[in-house]
Amino acid sequence: MDPNIQPPPQVLPFRDEFDAIELEGVQDNYVSYILKTTKPRPPVTASNWWRELSYLNIIVIGFPHVVALHGIFTTRLRWETATFAIAYYFFTGLGITAGYHRFWAHRSYNASKPLQYMLALAGSGAGQGAIKWWARGHRAHHRYTDTDLDPYGAQNGFWWSHIGWLVIKPRRKPGTADASDLSKSAVVRWQHRYYVWLLLLMGMVVPTVACGLLWGDWRGGYVYAAAARMCFVHHSTFCVNSLAHFLGETPFDDKHTPRDHFLTALVTVGEGYHNFHHQFPMDYRNAIKWYQYDPTKWFIWVCSKVGLASHLKTFPDNEVAKGQLTMQLKRLREKQDVLHWPEDVTSLPVVSWQSFQKQSESRSLILIAGFIHDVSSFIDEHPGGRHLLVTYIGRDATAAFFGGIYDHSNAAHNLLSMKRVGILKGGHPHGLEDRSVPPSQRLRVARFDELSSPSSSTEGEGILD
Ligand SMILES: [Zn+2]
Ligand SMILES: [Zn+2]
Repeated sequence: MDPNIQPPPQVLPFRDEFDAIELEGVQDNYVSYILKTTKPRPPVTASNWWRELSYLNIIVIGFPHVVALHGIFTTRLRWETATFAIAYYFFTGLGITAGYHRFWAHRSYNASKPLQYMLALAGSGAGQGAIKWWARGHRAHHRYTDTDLDPYGAQNGFWWSHIGWLVIKPRRKPGTADASDLSKSAVVRWQHRYYVWLLLLMGMVVPTVACGLLWGDWRGGYVYAAAARMCFVHHSTFCVNSLAHFLGETPFDDKHTPRDHFLTALVTVGEGYHNFHHQFPMDYRNAIKWYQYDPTKWFIWVCSKVGLASHLKTFPDNEVAKGQLTMQLKRLREKQDVLHWPEDVTSLPVVSWQSFQKQSESRSLILIAGFIHDVSSFIDEHPGGRHLLVTYIGRDATAAFFGGIYDHSNAAHNLLSMKRVGILKGGHPHGLEDRSVPPSQRLRVARFDELSSPSSSTEGEGILD
């Protein structure tokens, strides 16, 4: 072989088939195109269910459950073992949250090699598959949230997104997602190659041996620090896919199911601010307020302070605040829409002064700020007395209403505007703009298509700055 010719790059043994999905033919919407052109697996029925189960996952998830359930009734829990189990829960949990999730799936910070190996080892002990599979599926979850191309789509219900998708064979392949960066990572490849051994070592052997050698509790270490702890880590991560899509608020966007809730954060090592996370997945934080529970964020921050991590990504505060404001305006708009508002100005009849005079003879009409108001039903309820209103029937009471006789409250102005029945022709002098808009409507929430579009007053080639 010619020594100058480089050997072709080695084909990675774990390149998965999903990445190669043909994108040709996709015209409008990838999701609907794939759903239309590929067939899902048949529905699970009483006659085929045994063929539709993922037995390997059932063993990996079920085994620690069986050991833990049997063990807690037969094994004394020592405080040293309990303390170690909790610490090991956080260690392996952080392997998933700070490692698999925020580092490998989202690249939300740079991790040094020692930290990467530590996170890969910790994550192996959580028993959730190798990094490549996990992170690739999670990228599809973000890209196709709430669709059938999301491997754990919340639209299929709480239990499907929690554990159903692992126990039952996926009905469809997850949507395509680029994971080529992971295939190039030496740590990801190393962990993938030795995954089964690392799972046994970090998931079972280390916690058992640690409790056995340090305080002689081999059995307790096996039951509590290995098996029960792994059950908790499993359900902790499962809750990010289930609970975090069902429980809580949507302060940043309500287009999809992800939600923010303290309880979810508590059981997921800080992954509970999931509404924020789906909006800003590249942000190393899940919780942006200092008092919100996000130990994963604190861990990454500490790592950056001791030189193990760098380039912690955060989304611009201005854009985060914009998302929040949009949701607040949306809520305000909903409140605004259920209230009654004055007649639209364009639908009011325009009336001449003569006609106003004539009609005032048979109705109690008063002119204020260019609007004609019918105060018939209010004459006897006027707090300032009936006679004041009667005096101004058929007259312009603008000055009197705005301070001439009494400077009316905002509430009075709002109520007055509900009594509009017409507009006086030519009776809208300049300087009255602020008086013609009732206080309750000055900051009203308007959709973009309800506002007049600003037109450019200059033409030609502008210089962009
Ligand atoms: Zn999610
Ligand atoms: Zn994520």
